[in-house]
Amino acid sequence: MSDAPIRILLVEDDPALQELIRTILSAEGYEVTIAPHGESGLAAFERMQPDVVITDLLMKHMHGFEFLRLLRKSPHGHRVPIMVVSGQSYLPDKRKAFEMGADSFLGKPFRRHQLIEAVERLIHAVRVRFWGVRGSIAAPGPDTIRYGGNTPCVTIERGRDLLILDAGTGLRKLGICLQAEAKDRPRDLHMLITHTHWDHIQGFPFFVPAYVPTNRIDVHGPPSVEKPLAKVLRGQMDPAYFPVALGDMAASITVHEIREPEFRVGPFTVQAMYVNHPGITMAYRIELDGTVITYATDTEPYRFLLTDRHEPDEELAEYGGRRDQELVRFVSDSDLYIADSQYSPEEYESKRGWGHTCYTDAVEVALAARARRLVLFSHDPMHDDEMIDRKLERCRELAAAGDPKLEVHAAIEGQAIELRPASRE
Ligand SMILES: [Zn+2]
Repeated sequence: MSDAPIRILLVEDDPALQELIRTILSAEGYEVTIAPHGESGLAAFERMQPDVVITDLLMKHMHGFEFLRLLRKSPHGHRVPIMVVSGQSYLPDKRKAFEMGADSFLGKPFRRHQLIEAVERLIHAVRVRFWGVRGSIAAPGPDTIRYGGNTPCVTIERGRDLLILDAGTGLRKLGICLQAEAKDRPRDLHMLITHTHWDHIQGFPFFVPAYVPTNRIDVHGPPSVEKPLAKVLRGQMDPAYFPVALGDMAASITVHEIREPEFRVGPFTVQAMYVNHPGITMAYRIELDGTVITYATDTEPYRFLLTDRHEPDEELAEYGGRRDQELVRFVSDSDLYIADSQYSPEEYESKRGWGHTCYTDAVEVALAARARRLVLFSHDPMHDDEMIDRKLERCRELAAAGDPKLEVHAAIEGQAIELRPASRE
């Protein structure tokens, strides 16, 4: 994280509490700005773009829930960590605060160390945020409204650190939010691309920060089979497909082809591994201060591709099984495993060789790798919200039978999963 002091916006109408919280947090080196109500809080937020927001709920003029709603709705307030500090700590109030976009809740009265610890947790937590969760092609509309229709884009965030995974159509909204946050400040952005299939690069021409001359964007990924990565990115902006050329984007954009199995991107240590998908595709294992996230979308188990599931050829099955173990080792002990889970086992039979995994196999890998959380990702464009609900239920049953501690989620566009450092204890 950069050394500039962490800036906290405190929205609180009680002068005594304003002073108490400011005194406690200033003594810890934080820069605290006070807004006495929601409206001034929104204005102060836009002016200062703080690192953390702390808000009360019962305030004059604007209730804290309304403040949360308006802040989360605006692109510049979409990602900021927010803590609610309130005397209204009934369970339904807490639940509502989280629904409205709070990341943590501290009941009043609190002790000094509780406030400091809660702020520290908020700042140091790693968040994995989903901007696009759909495989193959964007599938927006009323049938996919809960899980989302955009193609892959995920961010790993901690404080001011940010790593972007894939540039599917979900990248468009991320770009709008990043630029709203940055205003005129230059940004250095890093992006890892798993492969050059449409659904993983199509958002790039719509990435607003790429049009800002003071920004710097580093794109890392493998080449395609026949073309370098830069040429593929340029190709999708050929005048036949798009009105602006890659070279006319104003930011300084550098494309790096991955040549090493391990490299660093800012504070993130990245391991890359080839996975089984048509063309050249990589999975990434990303570590940030001991928290491990593995992103392995678009891959198919070798043993099923190489041989018939029902009448396996022993030799090929054994070879395939060995290759599949490489993925298990790659995922091992991940705090979060984001996994291709495109098909049901029934669908897979007619889609063998298309390069995707069925969700029951994603659970098997997570169990064998002793992952702590599994996120079902790359939802099939043919799957509506109810089908994804059923997929999640089925995977949770399977996981519970194998390891009751394995948490299973289905990726939801717009949601973040928080990985607190304490989750490893
Ligand atoms: Zn693909």
